[in-house]
Amino acid sequence: MFDYYPDNNIIAVTVVWGYFTSSPSIMEIKEFDILFNADPDNDGTTENTNVMDLQNIATHELGHGIGLDDLYEDICYMETMYGYSDYGEVTKRGLEYR
Ligand SMILES: [Zn+2]
Repeated sequence: MFDYYPDNNIIAVTVVWGYFTSSPSIMEIKEFDILFNADPDNDGTTENTNVMDLQNIATHELGHGIGLDDLYEDICYMETMYGYSDYGEVTKRGLEYR
């Protein structure tokens, strides 16, 4: 969904529901929801350097939906699951290795 999030520094949030604390044999992702912050600066779908790229952000959030965590080490800045993004960034639209 698209909605306003109280912190404008947050681009999007993914919440995952499932069983995560039991033995691995019964761990399971049941569902996930993605909220894209509807801040006016975050609604771009092009390589416009003044807005966040929706496909770039959606690919990252879908990664959370399947259980991947954020990467915060600087060396990972080109990876789809890197925890930060910037206006006009489109390099993380896909999952291919760069
Ligand atoms: Zn993330």
